[in-house]
Amino acid sequence: MTNEIITSSAADLAARLAAGEISSVEVTQAHLDRTSAVDGAVHSYLHVDFDGALATAREIDTRRAAGEQLHPLAGVPIAVKDVMTTKGLPTTCGSRILQGWIPPYDSTVVAHLKAAGMPILGKTNMDEFAMGSSTEHSAYGPSHNPWDLERIPGGSGGGSSSVLASFQAPLATGTDTGGSIRQPAAVTGTVGTKPTYGGVSRYGLVALASSLDQAGPCARTVLDTAMLHEVMAGYDPMDSTSIDEPVPAIVEAARRADVTGLRIGIVKELTGEGFQAGVQQRFDESVQHLVDAGAEIVEVSCPSFTYALATYYLILPSEASSNLAKFDAMRYGLRVPPEDIDDPSAEQVMAATRDAGFGDEVKRRIILGTYALSSGYYDAYYGSAQKVRRLISDEFTAAFEKADVLVSPTAPTTAFKLGDKLDDPMAMYLNDIATIPANLAGIPGMSLPSGLAPEDGLPVGFQILAPAMQDQRLYAVGAALEARLLHAWGAPLLASAPDLTAVAKGTSR
Ligand code: GLN
Repeated sequence: MTNEIITSSAADLAARLAAGEISSVEVTQAHLDRTSAVDGAVHSYLHVDFDGALATAREIDTRRAAGEQLHPLAGVPIAVKDVMTTKGLPTTCGSRILQGWIPPYDSTVVAHLKAAGMPILGKTNMDEFAMGSSTEHSAYGPSHNPWDLERIPGGSGGGSSSVLASFQAPLATGTDTGGSIRQPAAVTGTVGTKPTYGGVSRYGLVALASSLDQAGPCARTVLDTAMLHEVMAGYDPMDSTSIDEPVPAIVEAARRADVTGLRIGIVKELTGEGFQAGVQQRFDESVQHLVDAGAEIVEVSCPSFTYALATYYLILPSEASSNLAKFDAMRYGLRVPPEDIDDPSAEQVMAATRDAGFGDEVKRRIILGTYALSSGYYDAYYGSAQKVRRLISDEFTAAFEKADVLVSPTAPTTAFKLGDKLDDPMAMYLNDIATIPANLAGIPGMSLPSGLAPEDGLPVGFQILAPAMQDQRLYAVGAALEARLLHAWGAPLLASAPDLTAVAKGTSR
């Protein structure tokens, strides 16, 4: 790797910035140079803000030099998922329909990053409106997995996972409605947390399914993830579902990494059959590491989880079809006048714009949601799904009486090849079988690397789930496992990823 700055953790960079050993301009420039060299091949970004990022970096360096007390992450650059509004910077949500839209305001998450003095490198690629598990539904073309450029980086947040795994940014933001932070982390050997629902403000996120959406941190280490989580989190009166309680002590938990006496529950329904052999093997080994670190194992069963996917694919399209109704050709971005109509009505402009502006997956879900909510079917579909959602939540509550955290593999397989599941929506949906239950119940979850699957040499993710507002438990367990694995591997997992400098030759932008 060309530059040790880009392989450093955010925590290390923060410490060296605070000590005056490096400047934010140096750190930011190193990452932007890396982007110029490799993003032609990886395509993590939809938009890179070279000037804006460096301007913030310069400002932070000046303030630090003047002796100002700064936030611990001041000067550490970050990439932002394109689902979050950024004042003055394009926000497309991976959709054609938002092409050209420049938001007049910052999402709360972005406002927090700016207040902390973190230079924003750019906006990361994603499946259109966060619908997908591979970034192949992005209207701007897919991102690629740095471990193997022919493979998916996960989705919908594959831009954020690949930006980390290709060392273009030390930190990134994500959103997780059914797994879009955790599954991309799993297949790229990075770390990501979906916080407790309501723990991080949804204000300024382009909504997919409001009762499931949750913004969260993405990074390469558990401590970095915790540090970013803390910046993003907190009560926000602009979000009616924001929790008005203190943010759990997540950084402290990540630093202590203590699992002594902790009861770890293995969810029967989320292991075994249907999971790739190497994924299961790495999962079992990680569980053993946690036992060695002093944890206790219990087995739990949550039979309703079998219906989680079906429940999610009724609730999500229902909410999405209503949230996406606002893209009416009048308010945002694209406006396409219908061909062959001289004096089109508002409805005709709306129809032509939505036809041209939305991709197939978005249309599929709008149709599904509109159908599930139609008066004759509401009780049979949406109503039943809400009942099952309740059962899933209750089963989590029961499981958390026996265990302090629950664990499973994050995704059933390692990264699949681009194109492999594009024509088979059901196969694509099945990727999130282990992540979706947490969204339905509003509880927090994390994915961290648990090794490479022996059969294909690709990263495997380990998922940890905790009760609502107990996010710190994810970090205690994650940090304990990470420390053991790091010791066993002798180097971070990503150190064994292919060096992209060779691959990217001639593709720089
Ligand atoms: N892959 C899931 C879906 O397609 C999850 C998406 C998400 O979390 N935004 O809905």
